[in-house]
Amino acid sequence: MKNVILVSDHKTEAVCRDAINIANSCQSDFSFYLLPPIKDINSPLVKPFLEYDEGLYYLDNKRSKQGYEKDDLLIAFYNGELRASKFGLSNLFIAGTKSSETPSCVVLISLKYLDGNVLEDKYNYLIQKHSILHLILSSIIVVHTNLETHNSSYGCLLDFNNNLASFNRVLQKGYYLCSSIENNCYERLLNNRYGNSIIRMCIEFKNKAFSSEFQLTINKLVMGDENTFNNSQIGAVGSHATASNNTFQQVNNQLPLDINFSELSQQLSILKSEIKRKAETSEELEAVLEVSKAEDASKQQDGNQVIKHLKAAGTWVFTTAKDIGVDIVTDLIKKQIGA
Ligand SMILES: [Zn+2]
Repeated sequence: MKNVILVSDHKTEAVCRDAINIANSCQSDFSFYLLPPIKDINSPLVKPFLEYDEGLYYLDNKRSKQGYEKDDLLIAFYNGELRASKFGLSNLFIAGTKSSETPSCVVLISLKYLDGNVLEDKYNYLIQKHSILHLILSSIIVVHTNLETHNSSYGCLLDFNNNLASFNRVLQKGYYLCSSIENNCYERLLNNRYGNSIIRMCIEFKNKAFSSEFQLTINKLVMGDENTFNNSQIGAVGSHATASNNTFQQVNNQLPLDINFSELSQQLSILKSEIKRKAETSEELEAVLEVSKAEDASKQQDGNQVIKHLKAAGTWVFTTAKDIGVDIVTDLIKKQIGA
């Protein structure tokens, strides 16, 4: 039996209580507990900004004071901006560590994404509720199984979620674990010691807490242009278990939220043919390879890799893209790379 301790804040107390009731009644591998909001005025969690490591060490300390063990997973909610300045990251949604890291099994979830104009008020509660339940399940999977987050977006609980649009896709799918033609998370989860219990919780969260009203709202959010939370970065839990201070996957490159990947892939393919025809020097031939990799990444809807390979392709490619009028690619390089 593994313990999972939720530390709510005033916004999330009711949701956490629901989550605990549902989770405790549908499986027997995990025992869920709720700790009341932290009232300590010296807590770093009352600050508007928080460095992730300061937060995680504080929670580790709080957990031992409450008499819990180091491998009891503690998930806390924080109402401010979570940062990892030493990695150049800000606006992280989630930061945490696996059991092999120090401190171990602590997860901090920033609720800042629920603020602002991103969500409509009347639906706030439902969306908050499901987004929080998703983040709790993702944390449990990454901490207590050998699965890791993946960069491709399938709407899976283990999507890396480097912007709000991809997180909305996860919500829209609803407690989804990707299939064997995707990253095979569902099958791989079943091979884990706690896989069955985690899947039970996915099903129960979906059945008991999922309503058609919620799905409608999420559809609207995903399709609409209300998503303006461009600078957000959703960190991953325990992405590199070997390095104790490397608890994030980096997200440095952002694509516009409304990018059309199929059009982008077509344009990259046209650009590739053109530069392939012209390439002579070894530098130019390498650029062809980078554009080809950018095209592959675009087909996988992996924005970070698209930008990374276009950056590596260099100015010759940019000039050619301008000349042949592949406007999406040209805009992308101009805006994102500052060419
Ligand atoms: Zn997956």
